[in-house]
Amino acid sequence: MFYKKLNNSDLWKKIQTLRDLIKEQNNFKKRVCWKCKKDLNIFDFLSDNLEYTAGYILNLWQNKLFEFHCCSCFKYLKREELEKIERELKSRTCLNCNKILDIFAFSKEYDALKIKEIEETWLNPEFNIFCSRLCEKLYYKKRKKRN
Ligand SMILES: [Zn+2]
Ligand SMILES: [Zn+2]
Repeated sequence: MFYKKLNNSDLWKKIQTLRDLIKEQNNFKKRVCWKCKKDLNIFDFLSDNLEYTAGYILNLWQNKLFEFHCCSCFKYLKREELEKIERELKSRTCLNCNKILDIFAFSKEYDALKIKEIEETWLNPEFNIFCSRLCEKLYYKKRKKRN
């Protein structure tokens, strides 16, 4: 997984930019995980949040108002959040293949979604739920043919 990430030339460019920005920064913050106090690395943070620019990542990092978590604490927190959603609605059905899904399987398949987006999708009966991207594609393909 790490290898795959490093293969990405976009990421390389961002790492370079971030290095330069940090050099210009007078009081670059040392950060530890808010929960377990493990040292955090800004380059890990960057590669986990590729949708942001290097400058934006540095701003977040330097912002006193934010607390950061390491990967494992973050996963644990995510699990707690998912359990909260599960208590509201235990399962849903894939619109394409009728498979019964739980929130953990759903969030794993759609892991690019933020927890807030997962919650909104899962709890709203108006939103279509699928067990996989493939089922989602098949469903819309079939529907297109019908029209
Ligand atoms: Zn931690
Ligand atoms: Zn399905």
